[in-house]
Amino acid sequence: MQILLTNDDGIYAPGLAALERELQQLGDVSVVAPATEQSGVGHSITFLSPLICKEVYEGDRRRGWAVEGSPADCVKLGISEFCPSRPELVVSGINGGLNAGINVLYSGTVAAAIEGAFFGITSIAVSLEYDEHANFDGAARMARSVIEQLLAQPQPESPLYNINIPTVAVDRPRGIHVVPMGVARYGEDFIKRKDPKGRTYYWATGDPPPPSDAPETDLAALQNGFVTVTPLQFDMTKFRMLDEMRGWPLRLPSVQSSGSR
Ligand code: MN
Repeated sequence: MQILLTNDDGIYAPGLAALERELQQLGDVSVVAPATEQSGVGHSITFLSPLICKEVYEGDRRRGWAVEGSPADCVKLGISEFCPSRPELVVSGINGGLNAGINVLYSGTVAAAIEGAFFGITSIAVSLEYDEHANFDGAARMARSVIEQLLAQPQPESPLYNINIPTVAVDRPRGIHVVPMGVARYGEDFIKRKDPKGRTYYWATGDPPPPSDAPETDLAALQNGFVTVTPLQFDMTKFRMLDEMRGWPLRLPSVQSSGSR
């Protein structure tokens, strides 16, 4: 099986290396990842400037392709240029930090998986709760097992999964919950300071979400120490409004004569 592996923490991130070692047991892994950290860039793409790509090595070991672009750029280039054949699986991670709740929409890690799903390829984002001494090796073993189990199931069209692993689950696994993404708003806190020239600046604190009272969301399950899997879709159409809205009397204004006859 041809596997494309990317991330948003950059090609030298430890979470990527740990997941690469595990995925090599499932197939032929091509690493195409951002040259520098791209956390929080969401689904941005590069088209106003050229995309510089370099093959990078660690000693004799080929690490893969480093792309001076976003995670979505990496997946596009990985599929169309760098993988020796069309991948059957796109994996993004392991991210250092959970990608749950509305963070899913800011996440470069998840965006890379969404990009893979655009191509109709089974795509999986993997994130581990942030910890300065995160056990990426343990999380990668866990992720590989979950990925194998997901792949063993009949797949829908454009299969896309978001896996999150809380720190506590790596050493003391409690179980895995299939849950929807929480949509509670959070992350609006900034620290306000003055720079050396006296100008005000703001810095997002990146605080974790508050305790969740919604019972069965990714945020709540993660807070309770469970690994979570959320099936995602990228079609953002609100289908249940389509019929009603088609009954709205929407009209365009008539074109005004501009004076010329
Ligand atoms: Mn990241």
